[in-house]
Amino acid sequence: MAVTNKYDVIIVGAGPAGSVCANFLGREGRKVLLVDKAKFPRDKTCGDACSGKSISVLRELGILPEIKKVAHGVNNGVIFSSPKGTILEIRTENQDGFVCRREILDNVLFKAAKKHVDTLEEFTVTDLIKDGEQVIGIVGKDKNGKEQRYYANIVVGADGAMSVVAQKVGVFEVDPAHHCVAVRGYYDGVTGMKDVIELHFTKTAIPGYFWIFPYEDGTANVGLGMLTKDVKARNINLKELMEREIKENPMFKERFKNARLISEIKGWNLPLGSKIRKQIAGDGWILIGDAASLIDPFSGEGMGNAMLSGKLAFRTISKALRMGVFSKKILSEYEEEIRRELKSELEMSYLLQRLGKIEFLLNLVIDKAARNPEIRKELTTMIVSEEAKKNFSSPLFYLKLLFS
Ligand SMILES: Cc1cc2nc3c(=O)[nH]c(=O)nc-3n(C[C@H](O)[C@H](O)[C@H](O)COP(=O)(O)OP(=O)(O)OC[C@H]3O[C@@H](n4cnc5c(N)ncnc54)[C@H](O)[C@@H]3O)c2cc1C
Repeated sequence: MAVTNKYDVIIVGAGPAGSVCANFLGREGRKVLLVDKAKFPRDKTCGDACSGKSISVLRELGILPEIKKVAHGVNNGVIFSSPKGTILEIRTENQDGFVCRREILDNVLFKAAKKHVDTLEEFTVTDLIKDGEQVIGIVGKDKNGKEQRYYANIVVGADGAMSVVAQKVGVFEVDPAHHCVAVRGYYDGVTGMKDVIELHFTKTAIPGYFWIFPYEDGTANVGLGMLTKDVKARNINLKELMEREIKENPMFKERFKNARLISEIKGWNLPLGSKIRKQIAGDGWILIGDAASLIDPFSGEGMGNAMLSGKLAFRTISKALRMGVFSKKILSEYEEEIRRELKSELEMSYLLQRLGKIEFLLNLVIDKAARNPEIRKELTTMIVSEEAKKNFSSPLFYLKLLFS
């Protein structure tokens, strides 16, 4: 498709949030430009685990069969371990959960969007074009370093944790209490892996965790994430901490004895949804995914809310385009919908994150669940069912967990 310089919508960033939003809009026949500073396929530092929410959006877009064809690991459950080392395995058979390298997954998403919209790779957005308060376009540098301008009725910031769009509309902030940093590397030869993802609440990482997410070919995505506030207060080097856990923690040292690091260990930021950006829609602009700070504060899962926000943004944008009105008043409907949809879930995850700091409570809860098949059954239901997840917000569930 030929690139012209006036669009209905420009989407900055072609990660899960941007590509999903572009796909929905493009399929509706909207004139969309999707730009990214990278050239696809490109890597994104991540744990690569996709579950319920992502999967339902991928299914809706008809992309799930495509993902089943590319290299991925199947995820049939979760292993949790407590700081004192109790292991709890929850199985969730046949739920479509998977682990897929972002270099592969994001490329599938980008290619699916590309069928419906104009795209520009190796284009780095540096600024927004405004008419008073109204955002009307983007300024950026193409791969030859030449400045280019593109115009649109609405600009969507899907440009991740360090979003330039969020910075240029004045809502960007890093609050260390609502922000996480994490590192990950790919390993070959880790022993004892099953068809489940592993979250280990080690003494040094809580309320964060050490993870092992296995692939079908026997390799694994291994990482460690912690609250930025704790990393700063304890002056922690996360890469060193992860390597120390692997070498010294009795849970892992045997399993990694013959393991080989087959990538660099890379780190990146996770803006947590315990503090969504103070404004995520305004005159001519909308923020989605990490740019809006929507990552689950307990699990660190961000792709689900990134894709969901891409879909919700599409609905409001589509309405605005039909009305021909691009003001904050109309685009704020997206913000209201995001807050309504995610509020209780994010509050509950934030509560769990804070409870997770209390080592004896984590030991107690994981011990109880490991011993009690009924609790395990209930946890399984909650992990696989979006509806049942709402039980997480029931105090009764926790009372049952603690006193049964
Ligand atoms: C170590 C780590 C482990 C994680 N593990 C998981 C996990 O297992 N499961 C999970 O669901 N989530 C996980 N997350 C979170 C997840 O990676 C993010 O929430 C998710 O990638 C957000 O998607 P997005 O589309 O909003 O942003 P991104 O995926 O970050 O995409 C943003 C895109 O914008 C582009 N861009 C940025 N700036 C510009 C610019 N100025 N101009 C043009 N383009 C630009 C980038 O190149 C990129 O392609 C993890 C995060 C980290 C750091």
